[in-house]
Amino acid sequence: MRRLLAAAALALALTAPAAAQGGFRDWIEGVWPAAQARGVSRATFEAAFRDVTAPDPAVLARLGRQGEFGRPVWEYLSGAVSAGRVARGRLEASRRASTLAAIEARFGVPAPVLLAVWGMESDFGAATGTVSTVRALATLAEAGHRGTLFRDELVAALEILEHHDVGPEGLRGSWAGAMGQTQFLPSVYLRAAVDFDGDGRRDIWASAPDALASIASFLAQAGWQPGLPWGVAVRLPDGFDLARYQGSFADFAARGVRREDGSALPATGEASLFLPGGHGGPAVLITANFEAFRAYNTSDAYALAVGHLADRIAGGAPFAAPWPTGAPRLDAAGLKALQQGLAARNLYAGPLDGRAGPKLREAVRRYQIAAGLPADGYASPTLLAHLRRASP
Ligand code: CA
Repeated sequence: MRRLLAAAALALALTAPAAAQGGFRDWIEGVWPAAQARGVSRATFEAAFRDVTAPDPAVLARLGRQGEFGRPVWEYLSGAVSAGRVARGRLEASRRASTLAAIEARFGVPAPVLLAVWGMESDFGAATGTVSTVRALATLAEAGHRGTLFRDELVAALEILEHHDVGPEGLRGSWAGAMGQTQFLPSVYLRAAVDFDGDGRRDIWASAPDALASIASFLAQAGWQPGLPWGVAVRLPDGFDLARYQGSFADFAARGVRREDGSALPATGEASLFLPGGHGGPAVLITANFEAFRAYNTSDAYALAVGHLADRIAGGAPFAAPWPTGAPRLDAAGLKALQQGLAARNLYAGPLDGRAGPKLREAVRRYQIAAGLPADGYASPTLLAHLRRASP
């Protein structure tokens, strides 16, 4: 979630002024009416900003750094799903088996998935962030002037303080306002955080049971379907028709698709074929639960990493198919050019943001099917060259 904000923060940074201290305090006072309207007391408001006298220069210095969007998915995966993280996840799975079972019974989200999100977001609670959330959000909101995203999150942070789940000293997280072991933004916390250890406080900072249950609560709200896998790594038979990439697991099984380890596919459920490195590379049948991961962070690479980490924690093997590590790939400018070319052909209606995602994948497949190319949905330099050669 913190990475999702980097692009928004970058846009704001372009208009960021060097605020004088007095101006910053005046700006904070301007937040009071919105906070008051949400039930925040004056005492809470003053306590929250007591030590926040100036913008945080470290927060401003971090603006614009790219996360998983700028890197090849296989590089991102090898960092996110490291052998050490898999081992730690397995250790936590046995240490916390009864808590995880109780959380799964209540929310329907399996333990390996909860551990994977926890591992991705904070290294199982080890890296929760030490930046004051109030100061970080005030810095970002004030720098943006008209941007309401960070200002709304700042008011949500004040609401958290009003509920006394945590004090101003404890309200900490990343430079972009993502908090604690779950890296929730304040508005997400208000909506999804859970007190699972029963001490009366929703403590995503210091309580692992609360953090894990809060992750489950978030995924349940995002539409997680109990009993359905997030996705299944598969092998495609020779001659598989890539143009038919959606259907039930039973349909895919009937067409000769098997799990990478050779075992049978799930008996029920709908899936869609995802080829994150193009045909010839790893192949995954993803389900609606993949989209629940994308509610946490919109990046396909993030969702794939969470799912794969969950599988590895549960004892699964690394992807067997090779990644196209040596092949040229499209950077953000290339992806944007592809989006523009597909939009000009009325095949793509999503944002022209230079990011791969389900909408671009779908548009690429439509183009490939019309052009008689293997419909793997993969946005490659070869495809962009083909698009440029073809008359619109
Ligand atoms: Ca608690």
